[in-house]
Amino acid sequence: MIALKIQDLSKNFGSTEVLKKINVEIEEGNFLVLLGPSGCGKSTLLNIIAGLETIDEGEVFIDDYNVSKVEPKDRNIAMVFQSYALYPSMNVKENITFGLKQSKTPKDKIEEQLKKISSFLKVNELLNRKPSQLSGGQRQRVAIGRALVREPRIFLFDEPLSNLDAKLRVEMRREIKILHQKLKTTVVYVTHDQTEAMSLGTKIAIMNHGVIQQSDTPKNIYNKPQNVFVADFIGSPPMNLTEGKLTKEGNNFYFVPNEANETNKIPLKNYDFVKPINENNKEVLFGIRPEHIFHKKTNENDFEVKMKSELNEYIGHEQIVTFNYFNQEILGKFSSTIEMGTNKEVNLYFDLTQVSLFDKNTSQRI
Ligand code: ADP
Ligand code: MG
Repeated sequence: MIALKIQDLSKNFGSTEVLKKINVEIEEGNFLVLLGPSGCGKSTLLNIIAGLETIDEGEVFIDDYNVSKVEPKDRNIAMVFQSYALYPSMNVKENITFGLKQSKTPKDKIEEQLKKISSFLKVNELLNRKPSQLSGGQRQRVAIGRALVREPRIFLFDEPLSNLDAKLRVEMRREIKILHQKLKTTVVYVTHDQTEAMSLGTKIAIMNHGVIQQSDTPKNIYNKPQNVFVADFIGSPPMNLTEGKLTKEGNNFYFVPNEANETNKIPLKNYDFVKPINENNKEVLFGIRPEHIFHKKTNENDFEVKMKSELNEYIGHEQIVTFNYFNQEILGKFSSTIEMGTNKEVNLYFDLTQVSLFDKNTSQRI
């Protein structure tokens, strides 16, 4: 069942188009992440789902009901904000139960919910503390508790971890994942952090300038980016994009990097083209991720290249090495136990089962 559907939604602030014809839907119990750079319109979209922001064009459906004009309080949605937005003068118990009191829930039901939620989120020892007496992670738990206690149909999270330090962020990310695994509630989660998106989402919608670039499973987003923006946004370091031409010989396609000659052509016999290609010598970008370049041949589809190492960045468990490939930069990621050196000619292997091709003019996957 589709829990939430957004249809042809557009939004302007004055003359600025912030959201352009957004279409996205999420199945009940799934975890949708809206991922994109700062300012791309994620919070605006979330606020529209919550009913906190008006729509210029398009509709929002929850369980097949058009809620585009329904008041926020009647949407059966709970939102957790980046700033937590706890009431500073209320203690944890009052903060968690405030919404239930407002909706005139019977006292014994409130107590029961409080007990359940506070032990679930491990804040039962903190019920009499004020927000100022809590750590960042504890405040975040209380904010989640306040949303959970109402048993909403859909949870909305707006960058809930970005105010926490790196270590706590990883811990809380796991807790949110565990929470979702247990409760199986529908979630829409906004973040600009690709790792958070990949680890939490059952589906990721990548946005840029108010347009959804790709809406897909984390695996498809990583393995089959639909355009150059997605290829470049996901992965650290991002996918290498080498300029060159797609040549055709009989029924076979090859990639020839700019400044290389025919003898250096890369065979693409295993590549799954989006649709048949008819032109020859098409200008393309050849995409390969740094982690798909190996120092040893590991399978029969590996293609051997010779490149000169120019820079070595040691990062503990791994090293990132910059190579010169026909005067274009290519980054490889290797275990730091491998001796790579700098200014050295090395034999490397491209895993050709893992590559992407993009049309240079349209930036779309081909
Ligand atoms: P994100 O959450 O992805 O960082 P936002 O949805 O907050 O992006 O903002 C998208 C764009 O809309 C930004 O350019 C922002 O400056 C603009 N914007 C957001 N809210 C308002 C507002 N109330 N009035 C005018 N412009 C706004
Ligand atoms: Mg935002």
